[in-house]
Amino acid sequence: MSSHVLVVGAGVIGAATALSLSEQGFKVTIIDRAGALNEGASGLNGGQLSYSYTDALASPETLRSIPKLLLGLDESFRFSANFSVEFLNWGIQFLANCSADRADSNTLEVLALASRSHVQMDEWIEKYSFQFQHNKAQKLHLYESAKALDNAKRRVELKNQFGANQSVLDADQVLEIDPALERMNAKLVGAVYSPNDEVGDVVALTEAAIDKSLSLGKGSLRLNTQVLDIRIEGGACCSVLTNSGEIEADHIVICAGYESTQLLRKIGIKSTPIVPVAGYSVTYPETAFTPNISLTDTAKKIVLCHLGTKLRVAGMADVGRIALVPPKKRLKLLKKITQHRFPDAGDYSVEPQEWSGMRPMTPSSKPIICQTKIPNIFVNSGHGMLGWTLAAGSAKAIQEIIVKYANSKS
Ligand SMILES: Cc1cc2nc3c(=O)[nH]c(=O)nc-3n(C[C@H](O)[C@H](O)[C@H](O)COP(=O)(O)OP(=O)(O)OC[C@H]3O[C@@H](n4cnc5c(N)ncnc54)[C@H](O)[C@@H]3O)c2cc1C
Repeated sequence: MSSHVLVVGAGVIGAATALSLSEQGFKVTIIDRAGALNEGASGLNGGQLSYSYTDALASPETLRSIPKLLLGLDESFRFSANFSVEFLNWGIQFLANCSADRADSNTLEVLALASRSHVQMDEWIEKYSFQFQHNKAQKLHLYESAKALDNAKRRVELKNQFGANQSVLDADQVLEIDPALERMNAKLVGAVYSPNDEVGDVVALTEAAIDKSLSLGKGSLRLNTQVLDIRIEGGACCSVLTNSGEIEADHIVICAGYESTQLLRKIGIKSTPIVPVAGYSVTYPETAFTPNISLTDTAKKIVLCHLGTKLRVAGMADVGRIALVPPKKRLKLLKKITQHRFPDAGDYSVEPQEWSGMRPMTPSSKPIICQTKIPNIFVNSGHGMLGWTLAAGSAKAIQEIIVKYANSKS
């Protein structure tokens, strides 16, 4: 393939997409509005490669908790007062995805993509020896409520029929897996155990994937380059206008996270169901008691992982909020929860590294990976809570769509 592809967005999705296309012989130019890599959602995120935990956010359980969420009684969730048509449409579609059938099918579709990602990521690690603090850490989703654990069990049984490998453990079995959890401030009833889940630093992998993409092809990375408009001629895209000039390309892939919606509007796609869901993280030095297995505290909705010599804790979901700077109040709460629940998992005597990012969230929790009505413009976006997990498989999927189209034109 000698044609030229322009990838818009140099987060983990754009980076993986660029690598997959370069492997097929495309010349790839990657552009990003930001002046440095990983200024979007692919920064200090939770680090979890959740290959087994692909449960859709929209579900009957979420539906039942909506009154509590709207009343602000769950401190981990906040809704922004946003009454735009796009936001309301997103909300309606979210509610439509809350039925048990839709939640199950959305979960299984994402599981299939996660399995594909696992295979693709392993292949890249083997082939390119990527270094990104990758650890086959395994995972425990910890529960204090027997009812919530029972709900999770039903979904575990379903996913296991479709290739997942999870089991439900009682409290004693949880402590056998990680005795350090004895020190947690919680009355655990059990956990969902995912032995195939892993962790890694998304920032390092994004950089490595871009470097490899550039070294494989004749492409380039252009930072400080924002797409302002997209020029269409004869029903196809011929170039994009940026703040640093016009760029011609044979194909364009939009990997612009939650801002993909604005770019798609420029080509007449008015309503793409992606909203920003802000979340935050704090990173502390490790201690002797930092758990080696990665954890989700389901009651408090935070994830913890041991990343190199650090403890990374991520959480909160502020729906519709764009928080370019982490809000002090939300960070204070995240720190308070972490230190109370896991008293010595990190060295809390030092100020942590603080971070915020916006998850590009669809109502179904399924990403949008497709060709648009402008046949040489493609989308790979909307990966929500699982963009790090799904990046490699999504890249492969969009690459196959582009190759098929390119072959049909040659
Ligand atoms: C707190 C938190 C914890 C998370 N934890 C996990 C986890 O443990 N596991 C997991 O799998 N996922 C996790 N995620 C989700 C994951 O981080 C995201 O899904 C993923 O990073 C999205 O990647 P992206 O490349 O689509 O978006 P981004 O990383 O946001 O990249 C999009 C890029 O597009 C650029 N851009 C936008 N508009 C333009 C334009 N007009 N012109 C040029 N460039 C443009 C932006 O500057 C940006 O760099 C977490 C997210 C958050 C917020």
